[in-house]
Amino acid sequence: MSLQANWRWCNKCQCLAFAGNPSAGCCAAGGAHNYADSGAYGLTQNDSSAPGQANWRWCNKCQELTFAGNPSAGDCACGGSHDHVGSGDYVLVQNVPSQSGWQANWRWCNKCQALAFAGNPSLGDCPAGGTHDHTGSGDYQIELGSSETSITLNGSPNVSGLNGHVTLTIQESGAYSFSGSWSPSNVFTGVISQDVNFVMTLRDAQGTVWVFSTSGTVPSESTYSFNNNGTNPSLAANWQFLQLGYTPHDQVNAGLDLGATWTAIENWYNQNKQTIDGVVEVVGAIAGAVAS
Ligand SMILES: [Zn+2]
Ligand SMILES: [Zn+2]
Ligand SMILES: [Zn+2]
Repeated sequence: MSLQANWRWCNKCQCLAFAGNPSAGCCAAGGAHNYADSGAYGLTQNDSSAPGQANWRWCNKCQELTFAGNPSAGDCACGGSHDHVGSGDYVLVQNVPSQSGWQANWRWCNKCQALAFAGNPSLGDCPAGGTHDHTGSGDYQIELGSSETSITLNGSPNVSGLNGHVTLTIQESGAYSFSGSWSPSNVFTGVISQDVNFVMTLRDAQGTVWVFSTSGTVPSESTYSFNNNGTNPSLAANWQFLQLGYTPHDQVNAGLDLGATWTAIENWYNQNKQTIDGVVEVVGAIAGAVAS
């Protein structure tokens, strides 16, 4: 059983969409989806034993959850039809008694195939024209992610002869744990010492980029490890914006120049049309890291 977090309701088109990717997705109401005031939803995927209706898929263009069991994949707000390449198989429960921690009144649109919330005055713009049409739909319930009091990111930032492992956990209380290590990947690369630097970031829904970085030297035939724990008050104060959706991005480089690595990360967010409206260096000071 695998519950995937980071699904959000769009307050414009009413659809359920995945908020954990660089693209916020195309919205049928214009521009990108807007997740303000959304709950944090979790979906079950790739579990053949889970009760409910399978064959719900993520569209890699508009980021919406859409039903793939009909002849038509449905019109996509990004143009053409939804594209399910890369999606897991999501299972939804429908027409069951109300469950605590779950939200009912999510409905399938028979025009665009998307799942949209039907409990608001507006049914939301449909990419197939007009508003969504829920005729023929069951009453789907979606689990509200009460578990998102913490976010954990894992990475294997290998670089030129070094194997790396990094884990970052941040919590609603502002507590964080940032730890990891690099070791030579084989006896030949372990002959000499090597420098490494690593920057891990999350961009929240307000455009603030939270930065965790480390740099050091892997001694010959040995390991560089780091372990930073602490509490950051502004992390706690801004938790709501991380809950609304975050984009993670990290980069590793051989050498000690954290500034160059940070510049590459800035460029990546810019290329993905995600503005950097603030920078908070939680662990590590990066030369020249200023809000742009
Ligand atoms: Zn939308
Ligand atoms: Zn789509
Ligand atoms: Zn629709």
